[in-house]
Amino acid sequence: MEIHVEPTTKSKMFCGCSAEHFVVEPNTHTCPVCLGLPGALPVPNKAAIESCLKLGLALNCQINLHSKFDRKNYFYPDLPKAYQISQYDLPFCYEGQFTASKDLKVRITRVHMEEDTGKLQHVNNSSLIDFNRSGVPLLEIVTEPDLHSAEDMTTFLKELVKTIKWLGISDCDMEKGALRLEANISVKSPNDKNELPNYKVEIKNVNSFRYIEKAVKYEIERHIELLKKGQTPKQETRGFDENKDVTFSQRSKETAQDYRYFPEPDIPPINLENKYIEKLKAEIPELPLAVVSRLVNKYSIREDFLQILINDLDSLQSFEKLLSELPKEIKPNEAAKQIVNQKLDLIQTDHKKIVKAILSAQKSYSISETELEKIISQAITDNPKPVEDYKSGKQQAIGALIGAVARQTKGQADPQMVRKMLLEQLG
Ligand code: ZN
Ligand code: MN
Repeated sequence: MEIHVEPTTKSKMFCGCSAEHFVVEPNTHTCPVCLGLPGALPVPNKAAIESCLKLGLALNCQINLHSKFDRKNYFYPDLPKAYQISQYDLPFCYEGQFTASKDLKVRITRVHMEEDTGKLQHVNNSSLIDFNRSGVPLLEIVTEPDLHSAEDMTTFLKELVKTIKWLGISDCDMEKGALRLEANISVKSPNDKNELPNYKVEIKNVNSFRYIEKAVKYEIERHIELLKKGQTPKQETRGFDENKDVTFSQRSKETAQDYRYFPEPDIPPINLENKYIEKLKAEIPELPLAVVSRLVNKYSIREDFLQILINDLDSLQSFEKLLSELPKEIKPNEAAKQIVNQKLDLIQTDHKKIVKAILSAQKSYSISETELEKIISQAITDNPKPVEDYKSGKQQAIGALIGAVARQTKGQADPQMVRKMLLEQLG
């Protein structure tokens, strides 16, 4: 995988222009640097580099204390300098490993820093260019070929995005183009002893998890068909047609040589101090997967509840505070379950109210589900009129049945639960 992420920074990568480029009047956030005018000189954005280093550290990468920027040359109208400032042989971060799930570890080749291009818009027979995005910081994450199915890929991407958001590096909003996904795919027979096939096909510029999964599945099938016929899939870049659910050829793949990389002469090499890297390391919080396994072990809370409850550091903090305040009669897992079931907002809702809601729900569970089922079916038999009304389309008639159950249970049953079970029994 190659993943491009726009870190949330105020300014662009090499100039002081605002990095905001979504729903902004075109070509209003530009200057000689990001328009690539002759003589303009780039100055690297410290906050952007810091987010690159932090991400690399979170992905257990090595850090190049001596690093530099390079020019990647290619001609395209959205690239005003005719080169992109990127990193070639000395990326900030390299050789990492990311645990995406219990069974999925993915080696990280590198995490480097570069700049975004302008945006092209094709209207009738002309093309319009908006340079507001030109020079916006981009992090590029490259993985080793450790993903063996489209499902693995999705697991990896979801955990990676969760981690990037968790670190506060980017919102990864795909609608705004803050996250772009590329997959390199090759297929080999299980009997093939070579580590990798001698070709790969790249799928570029997909901006949704669903589409990249579809595209990768499609490609795997396409390669298998070709390989069965004794052919090797052509090494090329392909796009994904969202309407037809197929991939299509875009261009044959460039090699590093075609880009004529060379060191960026306008930016001095960058030397980082160990002390600074240690400071950044200390700022990295416990990552989502580690948090979940800690809470599972410590409190025996079901993992799927935690996945729903804990989305960011704020929700984690709020949940841990709630756990520390829970009265003895509420088990942590019961608390998690009730917060999920009742869709309580850990951050917005007062914790006292949450405890009260959990206690009252617990009370209702003193009537067993089988018992409640019996009471409900009795209520249906005893009240033919509201049942008939409900079945003929009078939704509100259900109220009379809920009332009948409430009287039988002396208000001990959770009305939401009763409603749900009533609807089930009524079909
Ligand atoms: Zn600028
Ligand atoms: Mn790139």
